[in-house]
Amino acid sequence: MPYYEFVCEDCNTKFEMKRCIAEIDDPAACPQCHGNHVARQVSRVMAFSHGDGGSVSALGDTGGCASCGGGSCASCSSHN
Ligand SMILES: [Zn+2]
Repeated sequence: MPYYEFVCEDCNTKFEMKRCIAEIDDPAACPQCHGNHVARQVSRVMAFSHGDGGSVSALGDTGGCASCGGGSCASCSSHN
């Protein structure tokens, strides 16, 4: 699953959430103020390393698509 970046419009906290493409439009809550005036940033697929110790590998070696990276979303099914 890709990470998506969100910005809370109430407290300007930036945070990232792992989401499947199918859930991308679900409302997100700010971890800081728990508000839900959250704007999703332009989707940035996980081609960067996430700083919490999780291993994030580059796309392209899982057979998945650029949306979920793991072959588990709707657009993957159409590729397969
Ligand atoms: Zn907030």
